[in-house]
Amino acid sequence: MTSFGCCAPLREARAILADAFFRRFPCLSSHDTRCSIYLKLVVVVLHISLVGALFLFDTNLVQQTKEHPWYTVLYVSVFLAALVQYLFICCSSPGYVVDAMREVNKMYYTSADSSTLDQRQFVPITEDSNSSSTQSISSWQKVVTGLYPPGSSSRNWTCDHCKIIRPPRAKHCNDCDKCVLQFDHHCAWLGTCIGKGNHCQFWWYVLFETVLCVWTMALYVSYTRSKASKEWWQYIIIIVLFVILSIALILFSALLSFHTYLILTNQTTFEFTRRRRIFYFRGVPAKVHPFSRGMCKNVVTSCCSRENVLKLEAMPSIEELEARARPYTCVDIVSCRCC
Ligand SMILES: [Zn+2]
Ligand SMILES: [Zn+2]
Repeated sequence: MTSFGCCAPLREARAILADAFFRRFPCLSSHDTRCSIYLKLVVVVLHISLVGALFLFDTNLVQQTKEHPWYTVLYVSVFLAALVQYLFICCSSPGYVVDAMREVNKMYYTSADSSTLDQRQFVPITEDSNSSSTQSISSWQKVVTGLYPPGSSSRNWTCDHCKIIRPPRAKHCNDCDKCVLQFDHHCAWLGTCIGKGNHCQFWWYVLFETVLCVWTMALYVSYTRSKASKEWWQYIIIIVLFVILSIALILFSALLSFHTYLILTNQTTFEFTRRRRIFYFRGVPAKVHPFSRGMCKNVVTSCCSRENVLKLEAMPSIEELEARARPYTCVDIVSCRCC
């Protein structure tokens, strides 16, 4: 009883403090948001520890920085680029179907009657929507229907969760609870989906991390060589950090190679891994990437194009895809058909 009596005011005080804290920082009141913020903090701390340990232990590096500051400036720039890119993608939008639908409806209303745009609200498209949303349905349905080849079955077009008609390449993400355009995967590390809107930024992030890992590992190796006379346990911290770096390097190089291939062929991870189960791939000849426009155009479209992220992609007709499946001839090679 006594202990209960002592703890009760403490618990009450803690509850009041927690309540005041969450009122001040409402974004931390949700468990999922808190986990996501903690994960980001862990990533930032890990980056700082891996690089900071070098400057802490390696006196040669500190000396080298004084003699050749450009070397350290370049290294720190790569470090900052990786970190900034990480935080940038965490806050980026992968391109949601609802946003594309809103754009289409906005364009439709703007062209139909610009004065009524403000009064009209976004209406989710359902098969049994009432007459007030008929115009929204018809404009979006018309656009999406035109993206599928003629005669395609519309059975799989509607998302069971969002109740909206999805264009080709869009998929529902259970973590984000939204349909994502050109869905690639949901990245738990970044706490967001990778889709049409941020696939290129994701590739750059993986590139920066790979370069940072290689460079940092080279500096670790250089440090351990200069201290070869010491016993191994005297730089145990460096060994642990080196093992973490090695694992990170293996993962990032594998990711970099895989996503480079995906960008060159205009595919997504989801399409690559589930090709046989995706309905719009039925009838597509094997080894033909239906959305590929040639390697150069794929790279330009994915990384350099300023076209609207919400621009929808049409599925080519089966005839066109069969034509693309024809074997390469000498003329095709000379004319760079694959590019
Ligand atoms: Zn959905
Ligand atoms: Zn997601």
